Amino acid sequence: MSVSTLRIEKTRPHKRHPLTSWLDWNRGGRKGSFESPHVKEFEMDTTTNCSGLRSCSAQCSYLHSRKMGHSMDLPLGDSIAKQLSELNYKRVIFSGGGEPLEPQNIASFTKILEAASSNDLEAALITNGKHMNADLIPSLLSHLMVLRVSVPPFLHGYHHLRTIQGKIREAVRYKNMQGLDAKIIASLLIRPDTPMDEVRENIFALHDIGVDSIRIKPTHIQKNKTDGKHLKAKAYAELLDFIRALNITNVVISKIDQLLVDPNYQYEYCYYNDFNPFSIGADGLVYACCEHKYKPAFLRGNLNNESAQEVLRRTNSHPFSIRKGCFVGCKGHLANVALSKLAEAYQEQEAGIFSNPEYQQIADEALVYLVRTNSKS
Ligand code: SF4
Ligand code: SF4
Repeated sequence: MSVSTLRIEKTRPHKRHPLTSWLDWNRGGRKGSFESPHVKEFEMDTTTNCSGLRSCSAQCSYLHSRKMGHSMDLPLGDSIAKQLSELNYKRVIFSGGGEPLEPQNIASFTKILEAASSNDLEAALITNGKHMNADLIPSLLSHLMVLRVSVPPFLHGYHHLRTIQGKIREAVRYKNMQGLDAKIIASLLIRPDTPMDEVRENIFALHDIGVDSIRIKPTHIQKNKTDGKHLKAKAYAELLDFIRALNITNVVISKIDQLLVDPNYQYEYCYYNDFNPFSIGADGLVYACCEHKYKPAFLRGNLNNESAQEVLRRTNSHPFSIRKGCFVGCKGHLANVALSKLAEAYQEQEAGIFSNPEYQQIADEALVYLVRTNSKS
């Protein structure tokens, strides 16, 4: 390369990265509201009820909420769907502080799902699958973009997949028969002590059933309080290597596994919430975090008496501090690691950081981590 070419390349203005508008807004004191052009999805619970599975009830991450008895009614669900659709949101994830398909909640859930669909929102449902049945499956699959069934590991003598595999099979059969677009995903939860034989058996069973993908999700990711290293990272690495070696094409390992190989992160704020500001409880309240819904410390707004636009404005006015209780396996961590590095560097160098390929890469990764769900995961 000649010297003159080098000079031209050095002075060429670099392309504006899609995250620059957020970086400018954050550096400029977060005045006015920031509306992410990149992430347009929100999470909404319709119930906090769950009768519990034997395999997970003792360690349920929603223990604090799942007996609260909240149930969202149709007028509120419909109004939220309408408002967020008008704010250009494209996707809703029904998940929860409980189980969306609990029998006492199914009638209102299916109506809210229809309301989301008629407001042009793509919908994803995360369910334990226990209450799916042939009567329910058609109405679910005709309105869902993603049906994600969680399969917890064998624990306390209870094998969840054996209990529900007929239901997943029925969903796959119906989807194929009707030629529907909905993706059926099985989310296989693994712990560091889950036996390899069990994992293999479950993967082959789900593969035979014909689900669109089998998502492997490590759970119980914990850090050692003294040195900050992940506990059982080696056991996880071996298990994930074993799964990769099975070489099944539709097996996808959740990006959360990357938390296990990068324990040395530190940051002060949850910037993830700037891009995912609507984690809505079945009580109609908005929380700053999907892991900590229903905890007053995380409350950001109330859709029973405020508009979504009002909540959005207030949510954006300051970054949310990382709390002691922030769950180490949370999906936002990977985004926060990347965003906090960018925000810090941008404070000093502004857009100059993007002439450094390292920051380009960090920013590109942040965009991937910001999206919670897609048709593959
Ligand atoms: S299915 Fe979900 S909400 Fe219900 S007990 Fe298990 S982890 Fe908790
Ligand atoms: S748990 Fe995750 S999403 Fe929630 S506040 Fe903490 S870092 Fe943010």
